[in-house]
Amino acid sequence: MKAAILHGPNDFRVGTVETPKAGPGEIVIKVKAATICGTDIRILRGKKTKGVRFPSVLGHEFAGEVVDVGQGVTRFKCTDRVSVDPVVPCRACAYCRIGMENVCLNRQAIGYEFDGAFAEYLKVPAVAIEAGNVFPVPASLDYRAAALAEPLACCVNGFRNAGVKLGDAVVILGAGPIGLMHAELARLAGARFVLISDPNGMRRDAALARGVTHVCDPEKEDLAAKLKGLTDGLGADVAILAIGVPSLANDALALVRKGGNVNLFAGFSTGDMPPMDVNLIHYNEIIVTGASALTRQGYETALNLLASGQINGDTLITHEFTVDEAPAAFAEAESGRALKVLIRDA
Ligand SMILES: [Zn+2]
Ligand SMILES: [Zn+2]
Repeated sequence: MKAAILHGPNDFRVGTVETPKAGPGEIVIKVKAATICGTDIRILRGKKTKGVRFPSVLGHEFAGEVVDVGQGVTRFKCTDRVSVDPVVPCRACAYCRIGMENVCLNRQAIGYEFDGAFAEYLKVPAVAIEAGNVFPVPASLDYRAAALAEPLACCVNGFRNAGVKLGDAVVILGAGPIGLMHAELARLAGARFVLISDPNGMRRDAALARGVTHVCDPEKEDLAAKLKGLTDGLGADVAILAIGVPSLANDALALVRKGGNVNLFAGFSTGDMPPMDVNLIHYNEIIVTGASALTRQGYETALNLLASGQINGDTLITHEFTVDEAPAAFAEAESGRALKVLIRDA
């Protein structure tokens, strides 16, 4: 089969590898849709190294059709439409036991430890099937949107930490797919408004098209002043950092009211140590929260939000390529011209 193989940092080529076969407890799916994540680009550029193998196949946001079922698998059959939560928790460590399987000490992930979805076929390991990481795709949901259940589930996880409540004022930094998903979650959670900031005009337009009422070009407008104008001078209840620019973490501290929540959703590069005005956290009693990966429960929530139309996945996908064209797909994803870039079956 064809696969996009990462041989090392900045060394990404399409090649031919053996088509996987389902061993005991495993299934093989024909990948119908796989989307490129910002993390994939950080791995390609050598900015994320933890858990990364060479050579390997990336791709952890995907859905497909079951085409081979291994001995002992009873819950799935050929032709089933499935999508997969790629992060497999051990279900036994201290974190799994307290309901934080997203930070499981022994977690293994498809697209990292196991080969991922930028290929024609993908083998789902037995541990993922045992743990319940494989989900039927609801009939109302197409493969393209089902692939987005993974990033949306990550947003669901971070969004819980952000603690948006009814009537809140929410500011989101970054109007890429992640920022747009957070904006929709904020609307669903009853935020009174969302202000989203991004220097990229295409992304601001995408936010407006999705019903976000306030956008800001931070290169031309004073974001803090705009936000204060909307909140009687107080600032937002919640700020969500949806782009991994380290200096924005400090900016976000100045955008929330006293007692507000700053959620550092986006990942940063290894070694990023931006200066922070710690007195803002101290005197303003700001709650700073993080976000790491996803849970199986969050994945199911995400699938349901997409299938019910509460969140429109289709319109987040702006570009499509085949596996053969994977390097071009990555270039597009990196260009800033795209929202989500999809790699689909030929
Ligand atoms: Zn991802
Ligand atoms: Zn665990």
